[in-house]
Amino acid sequence: MHLSLELDTRGDGDFLDVTSKVAEKVKGSGVASGVVVVLVQGSTAALILNEYEPGLLEDLRALGKKLVPPTADYRHNLAWQEKNATSHLRACLFGFSLTIPFREGQLILGPWQQIILLEFDTRPRHRTLQLSILSDGG
Ligand code: ZN
Repeated sequence: MHLSLELDTRGDGDFLDVTSKVAEKVKGSGVASGVVVVLVQGSTAALILNEYEPGLLEDLRALGKKLVPPTADYRHNLAWQEKNATSHLRACLFGFSLTIPFREGQLILGPWQQIILLEFDTRPRHRTLQLSILSDGG
């Protein structure tokens, strides 16, 4: 079964906890047991599983800036007269999809493990998450 989730972000550094939204969709699907694959459509945002805690979110923003410095000469910016090469590169570091098991309609995650959308684009964006809900027959 395929479902989608629509979200709005405020642009670079806006990190959203989408766990309850994904959990609702899985529960509402009526599929009891299986895996959900969650994909963010777009190349300047990412998805991670981790603790949604303000200090850690700041550390993640700092890590993105350290690994992909804002001041370097990026070819993407030269080629397209854009300024969001850093957005693409930071999103690549963290990845675009997750696979999460569920049982009895409940996501199987650790207590400090949230589904977090990382927005890296330079401007506010509308984001669509695609959910593929696959039954394991259980
Ligand atoms: Zn671009």
